Order: sequence, then structure tokens, then C-alpha cells
Amino acid sequence: MQPKVYLVSDHEINSNLIDADALYILKKLREAGFIAYLVGGSVRDLLVNKVPKDFDISTSARPEQIKALFTRSCILIGRRFRLAHIRFGHKIIEVSTFRSGDNESDLILQDNQWGTPEQDVLRRDFTVNGLFYDPTDHSIIDYVGGWEDIHKNVLRTIGDAESRFKQDPVRMIRLLKFRARFGFQIAPEARQALINCREEILKSSQARILEEVLRMLESGASAPFFNLLKESGLLKLLFSKLAHFLAGEKGKELMLLLTAADKIHSLDRKNVMDRSVLGGCLIFPLLQKELQSEYLDRKQTPHMGDIILSTGTVIKDFELDSFSQLPRRLTAAIASILATQYRLTPPSGKRHHHPKILKHKDFPLALEFLKLRAMVDKSLIEVYQSWRDSYRQYERQSDRRGQNHHQNPHRG
Ligand code: ATP
Ligand code: MG
Repeated sequence: MQPKVYLVSDHEINSNLIDADALYILKKLREAGFIAYLVGGSVRDLLVNKVPKDFDISTSARPEQIKALFTRSCILIGRRFRLAHIRFGHKIIEVSTFRSGDNESDLILQDNQWGTPEQDVLRRDFTVNGLFYDPTDHSIIDYVGGWEDIHKNVLRTIGDAESRFKQDPVRMIRLLKFRARFGFQIAPEARQALINCREEILKSSQARILEEVLRMLESGASAPFFNLLKESGLLKLLFSKLAHFLAGEKGKELMLLLTAADKIHSLDRKNVMDRSVLGGCLIFPLLQKELQSEYLDRKQTPHMGDIILSTGTVIKDFELDSFSQLPRRLTAAIASILATQYRLTPPSGKRHHHPKILKHKDFPLALEFLKLRAMVDKSLIEVYQSWRDSYRQYERQSDRRGQNHHQNPHRG
């Protein structure tokens, strides 16, 4: 099939937004005689005038040929999907060879069948993610109707929605992710397929689901994303404790914490909060509810020992009902951050400044979480500021003493 080609005069892509290292890779591949395009999320982001997070490249060069061109800065990864990672300092740019694959089959059997540019986009998820950008003449190459859909703000699967969702149910989560992030409408057939295939989500990989969900917590659109998950019924299948909680009267509090995190992320896309702080947003309201009914409603004040026990129980309960298990390190950090909240704002209302807790390695994360709480509940602003100032002072003192205080993700 001949693609539609949109010329530089047809679009308003700001080419200054394209990463210089990505352009360098594209140029080098072309000079070696290969086809090379930007593809996927970065082209979509450029067209909607957002700063792309990462720049993926598709090329006719095979992995070994890419390796030969970029030598030591290139490593080949993946057994099933052979990909090249090209490293520039801390940045990694992913370069993959055009692949073919059966679009409609239930199982992806051979992932390393090389293909044409057209075959390569036909295996991708949504039309808006299926565009190429050719840096030689700044044209957009469209085999799937993605150009039109981006301009109409529509999310449409490439190929039959139901078969694409059955083939890889994670695509349903991705559908909601792009709806939340860009406000795109979901095409009617994709909407129907989501209803029909909902339960298939339980056949997908729990690690991939967790990764998409954690990435959405970092995205600046987590509140609308969790709303969509809830409305679609996927949340109940994946994180039933959370779905139940959101449906209840305190559900709004959880959403407000997510909205606060979204606000911080949209103000500064580079300063992404730690996943333990973000995961804490999902669990803290559940913990609050537990402490309320176990202690406060009975006119008792929980001690730190009680709080630590409850934190453990709430996290365990959350996991018990969840499709994806959180990594042990993450739950340990969440537990520490949440329990520390009750030292920062004790249920007794009495406030002591224990200088010892400033030294705890998770303190900056706990402080960041308190900031989110203060964004939701203005009565906490003062106590947040006071802890923040104590911490700054502690940092200055340990700097003077030449001590190495822990990395503080919480400046400003
Ligand atoms: P983000 O901005 O979140 O990175 P993205 O579209 O770049 O969004 P990635 O997960 O980085 O998403 O994937 C890169 C590209 O790979 C997508 O744009 C899409 O073309 C393709 N892709 C990713 N996941 C799938 C999938 N499950 N099925 C088909 N194609 C996929
Ligand atoms: Mg991407």
C-alpha cells in the first residue's frame, strides 16, 4: 500500500523539540544506506505539540548492523525482541529493526521476523502511534490513518479492535492511558471492544500492567487515568480494594492526592516524584480509614507501634486483592513513608520535633508525601513548612560538617 505523505508545509512540528542525539542516530543510519525514521510516541507528541519523553527509531538496519555502526555506545538487548539501545550519558535511545508480524492472530509467535516499514506500523497499537517522521525532509509517513485521527483527536486501534485487545490485553490499559493524557476520544468500535474484552486483562502479564500503572502515576494525568480505569471496570478486575475504596465516600480523598501529584508533574515534567511517594497516594487513604475505624472512632489514639502494624496490614490487604504484586522494595518504602506521616502529624495532635527522624533515609520522601497532603488539606501547610525548614537546616548543618546526607529529591 502507498502511504499518505504529509509534507513539512502540512504540519507545524517544532523541530527544535527533536532530540539532537536522535537526529544524529538517524543521520548516521541513513548515511550507511539504511532507512531510518522516528516512530511511535515521539511523532504523536510532536504533532500535538508536546515535548516527547523519548525518541524511538525504526530502521531497516538489522541489530548487528546497528551494533557495527555505533560500536561501544550500542548494546543489543532482548531475546525475543532484539533491540538496540544506544547510550548518550544517562540517556538511552531505542533503535529497532522494522518487523512484521501477524496482526490478527491470538499469539505473537515470532517476534523477530524482519519486515517493511508498512508491516512495522501495522503491528503497533493505535493509529496515533503508527506514524513515521522522516527527518530528511520533515515529512510524516502514514500507513494507518493516524494523521487524520490525531487531528480529529480520536483513538482507534490499528486493525480490528477486539482481536487487537485479545492479542494483547495491555492495549486496553494503553487506550485509557492515551485518553487520560491527551483527552482523545475513544472510537466507538474500540469502546465496544473494551467492554467485550474487559476480562481478558487477567490473561496479561502482571508486570507489564504494573509498569503501565506506575508510569501513569508519573504522567501528570493519573487522576483522570484512575477514573477511566474505574469507569471501564478494569480497576475492579486489577485492584479490587482500590475500586471498592474509590466507590465509597472517602474515594474522593484519594483522587485529590492524585490530582495534587498531577499538578506537580505538569508544572515540572523533569522532576518526577519517586514511585514510593506515588504508590503512597493509593494506600494512604486506605490506611487513614483503617486507623479511623480501629482507633479514632473508639476514642483511642493509636501509638506508633499500632500504626506500623496497621500500615503493614493495609498494604498486605491491598496486595492480596491485586492482580499485580508490587516489588518488595517498593512496598517497604511505601510503608516507611506512610508510617512516618503519623510522626510528622501525630494523631494526638501534639507535635514534637524529633531531630532523629530527619536523619532517616526515607525522610525526604515522607516530606514530599506530606507536601501532597498539604496541597489537599490546607490546614497542613504550616506543619509541612515547618518540617521542610527543619530539614533544610539539618541539610545545611550536615553539609558544613561534611557529612553525606541522603539524596534529597525534595528541593524547592
Ligand atoms: P509514552 O509517551 O508513554 O512512552 P508511547 O506511545 O511512546 O507512549 P511506549 O510504551 O514507549 O509508548 O511504546 C512505543 C511505541 O511502541 C508505541 O507508540 C506503539 O507504537 C508501540 N507499542 C507499545 N506498546 C504496544 C503494544 N502493547 N502493542 C502494539 N504496539 C505497541
Ligand atoms: Mg515511549
